[in-house]
Amino acid sequence: MLNIGQIEEGFVLDHIRAGESLDIYYKLGLDKIDNTVAIIKNVRSDKMGKKDILKVECDVEMLDLDVLGFIDHNITVNVVKGGKIVEKKRLTLPKEIVNVIKCKNPRCITSIEQELPHIFVLTDSKHEVYRCKYCEEKAVKRI
Ligand SMILES: [Zn+2]
Repeated sequence: MLNIGQIEEGFVLDHIRAGESLDIYYKLGLDKIDNTVAIIKNVRSDKMGKKDILKVECDVEMLDLDVLGFIDHNITVNVVKGGKIVEKKRLTLPKEIVNVIKCKNPRCITSIEQELPHIFVLTDSKHEVYRCKYCEEKAVKRI
């Protein structure tokens, strides 16, 4: 049984690859909210060896599943309501992501026109390849 601690409403993200919880914390914008967030690192896991877990107390509607699916669609999303897990959501690879990562190509129009949104499009779902919508530079997911 997964211990969900003090969360009344929110979500528990399980099976995060060890070491990636902080990256996900920032990419989901959790540093910008006042809610309770618990980052649990290097939890022993039979399946993964080690894993990270993120617990967030918040309105469940505010979770951006596209961002999570982009980062790692193997993460388990447990939806918590009334202190209990009421639902497990499956993540899929989003077709397009906006303003999650930036294009690394210095000649890309997004590095010149600062106000343009950073859009990446899924071009190869088998290999999980995303490319910049403007210059087709391959996305680098990991920091
Ligand atoms: Zn680009």
